[in-house]
Amino acid sequence: MAMRRIDDLSSLKWQRKNWVGRVGFVPTMGALHAGHLELVHVARSMTDHVVVSIFVNPTQFNDPKDLAKYPRTLEQDLALLESYQVDTVLLPSSDWMYPQGFQTWVEVLEVPRAYEGAHRPGHFRGVTTVVAKLLNLVQADAMFLGQKDAQQVATLQRMVYDLNFPTQIKVVPTMREADGVALSSRNRFLSVAERQQAPVLYRSLMSTAELYRTGERDAQRLREHALTLLQSSAIGTVEYFDVVSLPDFLPVHQADERPILLVSTLLLGKVRLLDNLVLPLELNTVEGLTHAWTLG
Ligand code: AMP
Repeated sequence: MAMRRIDDLSSLKWQRKNWVGRVGFVPTMGALHAGHLELVHVARSMTDHVVVSIFVNPTQFNDPKDLAKYPRTLEQDLALLESYQVDTVLLPSSDWMYPQGFQTWVEVLEVPRAYEGAHRPGHFRGVTTVVAKLLNLVQADAMFLGQKDAQQVATLQRMVYDLNFPTQIKVVPTMREADGVALSSRNRFLSVAERQQAPVLYRSLMSTAELYRTGERDAQRLREHALTLLQSSAIGTVEYFDVVSLPDFLPVHQADERPILLVSTLLLGKVRLLDNLVLPLELNTVEGLTHAWTLG
């Protein structure tokens, strides 16, 4: 069946009634790449009716310049989604998501406080609000999220659990370029020199994973190991590298719990590269990650 495109609220309410079987939902901001398509592929394999939303959500941008230059490639995105046999694509407008007089926010308090939350004030409040709205509209059985945005997974997991959303979160491993760089819509803003430096982030994570595999559990030593490698990059600035617990995203002194998460952000020019690894590495499958992130 041809992919349905929904761009107004009343037709969504009407069409929702006709969706048959388990509904899988993939929220995106468009500019789709192989990472997004992997989420769609996993959703296709686990659910009956796959819904993808494309909405560049203004409330999750703390910098208006970042919002203005966010890549928009709608026609190409639609062709890709059609070729991945998506059933329904939602294209909400800002008026639809934020009607006049809008004044209700959904905010998780602790999980988003540090790391990305500290660098991007208001970002996670925008994410939780828009995803809560989308979940209410789509009424999905499962929502598919990328491990790449680990703090987003932790925050949305907390929201879904605390507010009793009937949706299960499935977590999909990070898709990477051949040299290990995590795919991101923002990579296109890297200069040639910055792109050449970018693999240092993944190399540092993998090297720290190797130290962990050989038995090192002291978070300070794991961090120092990673920072030495990261700082060898001549043009990047490390915003943070830390060892945190799953699923609550709190820094730990000892990485004794299993699983554990290494999180890092490297600033290259104006581009913030995010990456992370769940340890032990064999947990980096949909089942392993989904289980690691489950609350309760
Ligand atoms: P975005 O369009 O950036 O909001 O991302 C939409 C979804 O795609 C989020 O769940 C992201 O975590 C996920 N995603 C982004 N990049 C990747 C990647 N390289 N691998 C897997 N999932 C990704």
